[in-house]
Amino acid sequence: MSQFDVVILGGGSGGYACALRSAQLGLSVALIEVDKLGGTCLHRGCIPTKALLHAGEVADNTRHASDFGVNAEFISIDMLAVNAYKDGVVSKLHKGLQGLVKSRNVTYIEGHGKLVGKNIVEVNGVQYTGKNVVLATGSYPKTLPGLTIDGKQIITSEQAIKMEHVPASVIVLGGGVIGCEFASVWKSFGSEVTIIEGLPHLVALEDESSSKQLERAYRKRGINFELGVRFASATTSQNGVNVTLEDGKVFTAEVLLVAVGRGPVSANLGYEEQGLTMDRGYLIVDNKCRTNVPGIWAVGDLIPTLQLAHVGFAEGILVAEEIAGLNPRAINYDGVPRVTYSEPEVASVGLTTAQAKERGHDVVELNYDLAGNGKAQILKTAGSVKLVAAKNGPVLGIHMVGARVGELLAEAQLIFNWEAEASDVAALIHAHPTLSEAVGEAHLALAGKPLHAHG
Ligand SMILES: Cc1cc2nc3c(=O)[nH]c(=O)nc-3n(C[C@H](O)[C@H](O)[C@H](O)COP(=O)(O)OP(=O)(O)OC[C@H]3O[C@@H](n4cnc5c(N)ncnc54)[C@H](O)[C@@H]3O)c2cc1C
Repeated sequence: MSQFDVVILGGGSGGYACALRSAQLGLSVALIEVDKLGGTCLHRGCIPTKALLHAGEVADNTRHASDFGVNAEFISIDMLAVNAYKDGVVSKLHKGLQGLVKSRNVTYIEGHGKLVGKNIVEVNGVQYTGKNVVLATGSYPKTLPGLTIDGKQIITSEQAIKMEHVPASVIVLGGGVIGCEFASVWKSFGSEVTIIEGLPHLVALEDESSSKQLERAYRKRGINFELGVRFASATTSQNGVNVTLEDGKVFTAEVLLVAVGRGPVSANLGYEEQGLTMDRGYLIVDNKCRTNVPGIWAVGDLIPTLQLAHVGFAEGILVAEEIAGLNPRAINYDGVPRVTYSEPEVASVGLTTAQAKERGHDVVELNYDLAGNGKAQILKTAGSVKLVAAKNGPVLGIHMVGARVGELLAEAQLIFNWEAEASDVAALIHAHPTLSEAVGEAHLALAGKPLHAHG
């Protein structure tokens, strides 16, 4: 039996971040992974999808090159070459991560692990004991009752990132972040795309104004969507997939992407047997990611917090530091930056207007239209920066739509997390001409001294 300070089950964003930080703090660490180090984000999520989106951006730029006076002709997408580019990025990062884990003296164990005691994980018949056990087994793509994933015509993101041709037409079931990102990729690649979303808006967790702007942009791009209507059934034939909605409408496409959310990987791993409190498969933890069983922690998509890689990183680091006795501050989940990396991007941090009102704030709002921003005009992008603030108080939320606005979150999250007021930000100088000026201009306007703003 091998003994460690920390035994971590799952080598995705949450698990490996916990391993690296624990080792940095002088703890002995075992990291157990059944598949590939890096998990969903590196191999099936963030990185491959963003590579596909970038290839889509290059395709769109080529199509629209003449708008900028550049002679170029878009011919077609070579999916094998796109995949080679995407896989090259993933493979380089994978190698880098493997080197990092090795260099920090983390004991890396390949195999399927199961919790067989309160502080014991068994892999291939060998038991690993940890003074602390961190569960980080992540999530899987869900489907709906009666909707069977066949991996060919009815697929999830797992197959979508590996497709070897551009489908002529796609129905995307679910207009959340993952659904909208794939819709954007496929439209850029030349597919006919229809999104079906049961809620009244695309990216429904975002501020309503951001959703509406994304919908406007998608309409302009020719991405079709049906909102506020639920899926009823799907049938497949040689001609494709027929999807029927509850209102009786029928849509047909070559492929149906099911993007209806992700559920925790927690079945048959010994979690119930060890008495861990669970809810719908998620492990329930306190604000330091402690489960109800002393010495067992859980992080990442396995717990009901935002399913984002950087949340997994933050929770993994939090647990490592708590175990090492550093007493780190609990995570403020409102302050987590969120991005939908479509064309256009949707980025936000903090509260939506509706949330701020629900929490009893006397809310003021400010919309800065990117039409007034020089760099946005150069890029020919449309969108806005919206501020939600407490009257005579701090900025409570920043919501942005437009090309590349995800990069503006670096500043937006500092503004929110440091509880800045509009006048604090108005005093800062933003480089001209950059998109970041739109963040500065929005705060100038909210502080009562608009510069490049009409009205
Ligand atoms: C298509 C897509 C796009 C995404 N894009 C983004 C994005 O742009 N930005 C962002 O922040 N997030 C994004 N995400 C979400 C992000 O990938 C996840 O939030 C993140 O990977 C969660 O990390 P995790 O460590 O909790 O789980 P995972 O990354 O899923 O890792 C869990 C690991 O545990 C392993 N494991 C499971 N069970 C066992 C076992 N019994 N024994 C051994 N090993 C086991 C698995 O093999 C896996 O490697 C995306 C997700 C998807 C699907």
